[in-house]
Amino acid sequence: MATIFSKIIAGEIPSYKVAEDERFFAFLDINPVAKGHTLVVPKQETDYLFDLDDEWLSGLALFSKKVALAVKKAVPCKRVGVLVMGLEVPHAHVHLIPMQNEGDLNPAKPKLSLTQEEFKKIAGDIQSFFIP
Ligand code: AMP
Repeated sequence: MATIFSKIIAGEIPSYKVAEDERFFAFLDINPVAKGHTLVVPKQETDYLFDLDDEWLSGLALFSKKVALAVKKAVPCKRVGVLVMGLEVPHAHVHLIPMQNEGDLNPAKPKLSLTQEEFKKIAGDIQSFFIP
């Protein structure tokens, strides 16, 4: 059965997309710990990040870098933190989280509740800074 992220990539489930190429897809986390919290996902369905082969894993890192540069420009922050958990969705993904201090990377932090308009605005801002 397709994962929820494959359904998002296929457009069967809506998302706030920020970037895409032939192999990777980036969209806003629906339960963000910070404004601009973004997920980067390979279109290939693999559960565990380190089960990706070297080409996909390095491709994911390079695509995440491009997305992180755009997030940093769109959302004022000290830097963009990187987190990999994968405990909830069995489809490898990288969390990119704008940070001011180390506590901002804590996934147990209370989630922000953003309006649709806020999600759309942040996604649009990140998209506008993304350089393929
Ligand atoms: P984890 O698998 O532990 O890295 O967590 C999965 C992440 O995916 C969580 O931060 C969720 O908020 C996020 N998530 C789950 N479903 C969706 C969705 N439909 N759209 C955006 N983000 C989602």
